[in-house]
Amino acid sequence: MEHIVIIGNGISGVTAARHIRKLSDKRITIISAETEYFFSRTALMYIYMGHMKFQHTQPYENWFWKKNRIELKKGFVSQVKDASKELVFANGETMKYDKLIIATGSKPNKFGWPGQDLDGVMGMYHKQDLENLEKYAPNNKVCNRAVIVGGGLIGIELAEMLQSRDIPVTFLVRESSFWNGVLPAGESEMINQHIKEHHIDLRLGVNLQEIKADENGKVKSIIIKETGEEIPCTVVGLTAGVSPNVDFLKDSNIEIGRGVKVNRRLETNIPDIYAIGDCAEQHEAIGNRRPIEAVWYTGRMMGETLAQTLCGNPRDYNPGHWFNSAKFLDIEYQTYGWVFGERGRPEYEQHFHWKHPKKHLCITIAFHKETKQFLGINTFGIRMRHHSFDTWLNEKRSVEYVLEHLADANFDPEFYRQYEKEIVAQFNNEHQTSIKPKKRSWKRIFSY
Ligand SMILES: Cc1cc2nc3c(=O)[nH]c(=O)nc-3n(C[C@H](O)[C@H](O)[C@H](O)COP(=O)(O)OP(=O)(O)OC[C@H]3O[C@@H](n4cnc5c(N)ncnc54)[C@H](O)[C@@H]3O)c2cc1C
Repeated sequence: MEHIVIIGNGISGVTAARHIRKLSDKRITIISAETEYFFSRTALMYIYMGHMKFQHTQPYENWFWKKNRIELKKGFVSQVKDASKELVFANGETMKYDKLIIATGSKPNKFGWPGQDLDGVMGMYHKQDLENLEKYAPNNKVCNRAVIVGGGLIGIELAEMLQSRDIPVTFLVRESSFWNGVLPAGESEMINQHIKEHHIDLRLGVNLQEIKADENGKVKSIIIKETGEEIPCTVVGLTAGVSPNVDFLKDSNIEIGRGVKVNRRLETNIPDIYAIGDCAEQHEAIGNRRPIEAVWYTGRMMGETLAQTLCGNPRDYNPGHWFNSAKFLDIEYQTYGWVFGERGRPEYEQHFHWKHPKKHLCITIAFHKETKQFLGINTFGIRMRHHSFDTWLNEKRSVEYVLEHLADANFDPEFYRQYEKEIVAQFNNEHQTSIKPKKRSWKRIFSY
């Protein structure tokens, strides 16, 4: 019986395994060095914050794997011998495979900062990081200040986590405004304000120079490069992005760029070896997407696509329109299609920005300057329906059409205040148009 071995029990590896099982009778083994069972990485923060226990983050009961004949193996793979189709584990054990799926995810970036491996310094990615956080920052008596280095989505989650235990936080962000490489200026500015309102000591436009140790080799302070300021702290969270977890493949014959290089079929340069999820790097990016996509749903899509291919229905990875969602403390963020920040914004992309005069609610709609074609939308504090935007992007609708039908996309619960009228009025005013917002129609919504 063909033996499919998957390194990595995250969303991509587990999705591949589940779908291979649905479609075939092949022998399947999943290997992980991190945990015995699959858990939801995106829910890690809620464990520290006391909303969930670790076992609540496991989407499947422990009996699921045996019942579905998916073998689980705990261990770290240190070598892939493609000529003999064999894996070597750190403890010297070996395992044979017929087909190999590399789904090893990401690791937090470290940029060679002095002190980056001291006790009290951690990323926020693996379960072990959470255990470290529990050890070094259980409360504000043990940890009187934490410094977070790197202002992205994981950095802000870590800030929220620490704040939930009343631990003072200093947040070092290299950019001049929070996440402004991705977000347009108005949105990024709103997030700056929101972070400060939460009494987080946000430092913009600064870099970490060094982490200093006390006499026991534990963090005692950090130095800011630009100013030389020393900030006393006992925990440092490194959240300056992630990169593919592929170091163990450096001496193999598998082609590596930043991640494991794959084609649209998710095949590597070596027959019978594939890569999916955060660790996979497309030879050529798909549309405006990045060659490496470190998000949950793309890992799941890649797992599903590859399962089809391995079970005799060859498929290309085709993720459709970009979307994503996240949370900046109390503000929910969604994005559909493309809305560029300052970096990489094409010359033809025009923005319409609406912001509530008092509350932290805003939207930015991107459209083509000449054709007026709708390109994408960011929403903050207003929930929108994915399917509506996906349809309008497929149908290449104009910005006017989208505004006219915006109420159809609103996904806020009943009795929430709706803002379509104000949004459209501002657009009409700025663009000398006379768009009349239509009332929400369930008939239309179900026809999308
Ligand atoms: C705190 C946090 C919050 C996030 N929130 C969101 C969110 O809200 N939305 C979103 O879209 N994405 C989010 N992400 C990103 C998302 O979690 C990842 O994109 C996704 O988990 C990647 O899945 P994966 O299967 O590719 O890899 P992973 O989940 O990283 O799993 C890979 C597994 O392989 C194991 N492994 C690696 N190398 C070896 C080896 N040599 N031998 C054995 N095992 C190995 C690793 O230990 C790990 O268990 C978040 C990430 C973090 C850290």
